[in-house]
Amino acid sequence: MKKFKGNNIFGAIVFTLFAAVLAAGVYWKNHTEPINVPYVDFLKSVEEGNVSLVTLTDESSLKYTLAGEGAEYITENPRSPTLKEELLKQGVSVSEGGAFSNSGALMSVLFFCAVLFMIYKVSSRQNPKTAMVLNVSDVSESGERYPAFDDIAGNEEAKESVRDVVDFIKNPDKYARYGAHIPHGMIFYGPPGTGKTLMAKAIAGEACVPFYAVSGSDFVQMYVGVGASRVRDLFRKARENKKAVIFIDEIDALGKKRGASPQGGNDEREQTLNALLTEMSGFSNSEGIIVIAATNRLDTLDEALLRPGRFDRQIEIGLPDLNARRSILNLHIKNKPISKDVDMGSVAKQTVFFSGAMLENLLNEAAIFAAKRTAESIESADIDRAYYTVIAGSEKMDRSGIKERERRVTAYHEAGHALAAKLLSPENTVAKITIIPSAKGAGGFCINIPPDKMYHTKSEIENQIMINLAGRVSEELTFTAENVTTGAGNDIEKSISLARDYIDRYAMGSGFVFDEKSSRDAMRKLLDELYARTMELLLNNQNLLIAISEELLNRETLNEDDLDRIIGAANRP
Ligand code: ATP
Repeated sequence: MKKFKGNNIFGAIVFTLFAAVLAAGVYWKNHTEPINVPYVDFLKSVEEGNVSLVTLTDESSLKYTLAGEGAEYITENPRSPTLKEELLKQGVSVSEGGAFSNSGALMSVLFFCAVLFMIYKVSSRQNPKTAMVLNVSDVSESGERYPAFDDIAGNEEAKESVRDVVDFIKNPDKYARYGAHIPHGMIFYGPPGTGKTLMAKAIAGEACVPFYAVSGSDFVQMYVGVGASRVRDLFRKARENKKAVIFIDEIDALGKKRGASPQGGNDEREQTLNALLTEMSGFSNSEGIIVIAATNRLDTLDEALLRPGRFDRQIEIGLPDLNARRSILNLHIKNKPISKDVDMGSVAKQTVFFSGAMLENLLNEAAIFAAKRTAESIESADIDRAYYTVIAGSEKMDRSGIKERERRVTAYHEAGHALAAKLLSPENTVAKITIIPSAKGAGGFCINIPPDKMYHTKSEIENQIMINLAGRVSEELTFTAENVTTGAGNDIEKSISLARDYIDRYAMGSGFVFDEKSSRDAMRKLLDELYARTMELLLNNQNLLIAISEELLNRETLNEDDLDRIIGAANRP
């Protein structure tokens, strides 16, 4: 099915005209022009008992039909108050109808069309995308190649958890024989772009069955009852194929905890959800249909959804670790010419917190840069630029409005972060430092990536807070306390959040804290102490701070090698 897109009004007009022509055609087909006869002929037919029906109105003509004939006749209407009685006495049926002229009939047709048109317009305005039609993408019909498990890099545990489902879809009887039933529904949860849709499609691909995808958000704002009937249609379609994977993206739009939605209850949402759960509980154990839902936030879902017999298998699809990032990069580089100077291992290291989709995007942006240069192959410089685009949006093209003073503040601020990271956490990667403002509003940035770790120590958290504060500290040290800027807003927010975890969550301060006031006092003490320590650190290394800042002002962007070189040169005797 295709989405009902744009041009609604045009569609509605065409539809209405079509309906009008059709209705008028039907009317005139059944209503050939009546034959006009003198009143005396009419009376004669009545006397002879040939008239079967007379239609009386207040108009100047009356209409009648003869027994055994389809034709209609009209004649003068004497508007006599006794006419009806006389006709009835003669055994003639009398109907007191409304207007029967052609114009009256035409008005009725037009009225009918106008009502139709209004309904159509209102429905389109309510939700232009989905008012009447639900978008179900049927991959089997689109001819798209289904991915296989080999097209998914990393996510090994998730793949392992769904292998039995593939086998079940292929051989449901094998499981039914043992009285085993595989989950009717599964939920994939995890951050955006981690491959949840890809995994669901790969299950269909591996099991060689059709894949139907809908989005939970498409059901919202439908007319009451429409969503539920679409759900039934979808399952009917899947059942026709006997085996299928039904994928519902953004299930939270439908199955959010009650009361969690700011709009309060939504009848349509609940009806649709109930229809979905009813369809799912109607599966027999030997049916090869599986419903997979996806969400970024498992914790927001209504518990009713997660009960046994519903979406009772929940599988996390998380951000890729170092090895997985490397495999994802290798997978997506396959069809791209890549220069020998690119070290994929180091790209994987620099891309902590990247999802699979971001990694794919990184390589695609790099390929676009290489294509624009009509270069032989994608080089490290292309990947560096692409990195910037993926992280911060595209570089801000018009930099003419940025004053020299602001450039200096940005350079010293970012240099503060970079230097603190280098001195405090040498195991971190300072992938890039730049004073090029991004189109998304950042003045510049310093990418400081800690190594992948399961746990963080107390001193690592302290160091991270100091690295966050170092931008503001550097501004104060260089331009005085009165001239510090709003550029540190985000850093301060992050520092406070880390300090809160340090004190409340991990009890890393001077013991356990239970009340709000003690917690706030401990946080203030911690942040003041760390601020002072950062000031001391930068003061003791002010020559390095100046060297990095000045080179940044010259070159705008530096990488880790540049930083190491500047620090190494300054430390040489
Ligand atoms: P969302 O939550 O935003 O809907 P998602 O988790 O469903 O995202 P997908 O749409 O499946 O993510 O992923 C987008 C694209 O990213 C995929 O089509 C694929 O090209 C790439 N991708 C993501 N994860 C992987 C992976 N593990 N291996 C290979 N490619 C991946």
